[in-house]
Amino acid sequence: MEKQQNHAFSADTGKLLKLMIHSLYSNKEIFLRELVSNAADAADKLRFKALSDGSLFENDADLRVRLSFDEEAKTITISDNGIGMTQDEVIEHLGTIAKSGTSDFFEQLSGDQVKDSQLIGQFGVGFYSAFIVADKVTVNTRKAGDDASQGTMWESTGEADYTVANIEKADRGTEIILHLRDDETEFLNDYKLRSVVSKYSDHISIPVQMFKEAVPESEGPDGEKVPAVEAAWESINKATALWNCAKSDLKDEEYKEFYKHIANDFEDPLTWSHNKVEGEQEYTSLLYIPKRAPYDLWNREKAHGLKLYVQRVFIMDDAEQFMPTYLRFVKGVLDSNDLPLNVSREILQDTRVTAKLRSACTKRALTMLTKFAKKNETEYNAFWNEFGQVLKEGPAEDPSNKEQIAKLFRFASTETDKADQTVSLDAYISRMNEEQDKIYYITADSFNAAKNSPHLEILRKKGIEVLLLSDRVDEWLLSHLPEYDGKAFISVTQGDLDLGKLDTEEEKKEQEKQETEFASFIERTKKVLGDKVKDVRLTQRLTSTPSCIVADSDDMSTQMAKLMAQMGQ
Ligand code: ADP
Ligand code: MG
Repeated sequence: MEKQQNHAFSADTGKLLKLMIHSLYSNKEIFLRELVSNAADAADKLRFKALSDGSLFENDADLRVRLSFDEEAKTITISDNGIGMTQDEVIEHLGTIAKSGTSDFFEQLSGDQVKDSQLIGQFGVGFYSAFIVADKVTVNTRKAGDDASQGTMWESTGEADYTVANIEKADRGTEIILHLRDDETEFLNDYKLRSVVSKYSDHISIPVQMFKEAVPESEGPDGEKVPAVEAAWESINKATALWNCAKSDLKDEEYKEFYKHIANDFEDPLTWSHNKVEGEQEYTSLLYIPKRAPYDLWNREKAHGLKLYVQRVFIMDDAEQFMPTYLRFVKGVLDSNDLPLNVSREILQDTRVTAKLRSACTKRALTMLTKFAKKNETEYNAFWNEFGQVLKEGPAEDPSNKEQIAKLFRFASTETDKADQTVSLDAYISRMNEEQDKIYYITADSFNAAKNSPHLEILRKKGIEVLLLSDRVDEWLLSHLPEYDGKAFISVTQGDLDLGKLDTEEEKKEQEKQETEFASFIERTKKVLGDKVKDVRLTQRLTSTPSCIVADSDDMSTQMAKLMAQMGQ
């Protein structure tokens, strides 16, 4: 072997690997899912590139993964004839673990196995899961189209460093050899490997094969001839892309495993929606909602979007054109028959087909959430806690769907007087009395400030429910959502709170009487306060607090003013 080089892993790798092994140990067979999943991705990438350069197939277009083991050497080998990697790509992809945010990650670890394994899943340490069962991993790879002399070997014991060397590799693709730890020999077993593959990888798009030994012709129990079986590679998974199967043929377990393959998540999804559309537009979509927000949900630059296929050929990951940013947590697959096979990100930007598909996928995602909310109230509340803040970007980004997005919102309100955001606008409206035609809300810096605001006194007295808003984006959200179901949102802190028909005739008379009684007091107060205030008014809103400060109806609310000040405006 020539030109062997040693490279150090990024700083925390050793520690992270140890942790990963420890926390994923109870579910260690997932290493096979991760490695097979990578092989399938490599096949997808090659198939796509070969669309424009058929020579990349090197006369071998039957893409597959092969799985074998050697009992004596205690190794498992997973080899694919996918795209392969150049030496630079090997160093880039296998040399850095948890590419960014490793230190944040360490801060979040709790020592609780279940929680930590979920966190680890979010970091997508796919390839490194090999070290759960192996104490040494060797990768031999050669990029499709490169010369046989351009192969690369990568090897590591998963501690501080790895080595890279130039090798000869006749066939393109990647071969991963796991040198199993002494106590992991249960995987050196044909039946075990087959059952793990069919459990986790039935519906990846390429066949996973194992070698079947030759069986000579023999005699059955009744003396009949049992024909010989020739030795051959045999597919052990279904290898049909899951989204192409009929819904009725698929089990929940299969949907869940497929989700883990495409989303790099270790947890089950919360819900999913699978649709085949024929006619003017032809496409299949399979959308999933994750259970948990990724650690970088707030990084709007982060890649998101659907896995795009055209006529069952993989085109690209993270096609963000089909999902608006406020739904960036949605994962899934879109397979279109209407886009050209040579579609690129640039072309996607401005085709009419893209716009139609985006609108269709957005509607599907919103409908999926609406249905889920209806059926599973508690689980939906958990969803809201994870992703609600992102959904609140919806009305501004996607005004045409704002009514349906708003239906998904949950707020705190004076009905429950709890900080948990569990009240839907529909529930609020269902409790309104006949005379009420507006949705009242208050915004404040914190839930407690909202809840204890003197502005609520009169409304509480009259039994009118008020939404208690204290998230930073709420004010901005309502500036893009002036009404819901034909009912305007009214801030109880702004201007003259007009309770309209909610005030009785008697109350109105009483108000007029007070106006005259207090006129001279108001005049005096105005003089004393001078320029410090815009106006001084008599209010009907307070019952026990003597006075309060309000913003004028057309002025910025105090909340919004604070938000602007924070942003340095
Ligand atoms: P992910 O699959 O989420 O990208 P992994 O840790 O599983 O993360 O893999 C890291 C990267 O290594 C992949 O994105 C890919 O570029 C490369 N890789 C891994 N396995 C293979 C393979 N069998 N063939 C080609 N590239 C691979
Ligand atoms: Mg992977």
